[in-house]
Amino acid sequence: MLVVPEALVAGLVSEADALEAVRGCFAAMARNEARNFPVVREALGEGRQYGFKSGLDTAGGMLGVKAGGYFPGNAGRGITNHQSVVYLFDPESGRPTAMVGGNLLTALRTAAASALSIDLLARKDARVLGIVGAGHQAGFQLRAAAKVRAWERVIAWNLHPEMLPKLGAVAAELGLPFEAVPLERMVEADAIITITSSPAASLMARHVKAGAHLACMGTDTKGKQEVEPALVAAATVFTDEVAQSVTIGEAQHAVGAGLLDATAITPLGEVVTGAHRGRASDAEITLFDGTGVGLQDLAVAGMAVKRAAERGLGAVVEV
Ligand code: NAD
Repeated sequence: MLVVPEALVAGLVSEADALEAVRGCFAAMARNEARNFPVVREALGEGRQYGFKSGLDTAGGMLGVKAGGYFPGNAGRGITNHQSVVYLFDPESGRPTAMVGGNLLTALRTAAASALSIDLLARKDARVLGIVGAGHQAGFQLRAAAKVRAWERVIAWNLHPEMLPKLGAVAAELGLPFEAVPLERMVEADAIITITSSPAASLMARHVKAGAHLACMGTDTKGKQEVEPALVAAATVFTDEVAQSVTIGEAQHAVGAGLLDATAITPLGEVVTGAHRGRASDAEITLFDGTGVGLQDLAVAGMAVKRAAERGLGAVVEV
């Protein structure tokens, strides 16, 4: 198998690559050419989460699993809270073909999913980007969102305001004016990305204006929550995968409370393929429930492996 270490990934997969990989994988899911297997995610205590996301992309010839999780104490260790590795297998023989460091890939594929949702669902004239959250993922989210709309400014809120300057530095790098604001001022945003590990809703209906697009990316486990269920129910909801959305995604709460029916949630891949029109009006609130699917991980890992093999990078090992 080819081993692609974490340190090589940044030189192999760009934000634009991740966007295209995720676009392709969501389309393959919508065409029933690719499927995710049920997620295993277990609480280890003290906020630590560990599990497996896996899937099969028949058309793309990809079979594999991402193993890893979220370890909130890692900041103190000087390493990222997300730790993971992607393993790829030959779908015909089951032979392991590659092992790829999954930390940067996770950030890139997550940011790519929310950027894709903004690209497809936000109003074309969206100019103010709101961000709720300022942790490790937030900067990646901002960088990817910058690729899909001509933002005029960025406003951000975080429960821990001392984390916001780091996000402001990313905005400065992108040449975007940045302002830390109270949640009430999120009504100025045309698109809002939520990317926190919150266990309770922060973003309420009164914080969101008509016509806004929400990319809800932080809730990827049972019990997490970023958005008021009534706001989710009032929006037109899209997701990466409906089965995950209603169990571990943001929609779990609105569905659980009987405010939203699973049948009203549309896979984003259907917008990619043209099977769904996407936004229906300028006044509609659209919401993407990005839960993170295994096929996203396989798509970006496959790209890293292809590029590494072409350039003679990584190490070939017998297992
Ligand atoms: P991080 O630990 O670096 O940052 C956590 C963020 O959540 C910070 O902004 C922090 O201030 C905020 N936060 C913590 N406790 C909170 C609370 N009680 N209420 C409100 N905000 C709170 O994490 P990260 O790496 O930036 O990841 C953020 C979230 O995104 C996590 O929940 C992670 O599991 C999730 N995630 C989702 C996907 C996906 O595909 N959907 C992929 C990767 C990460």
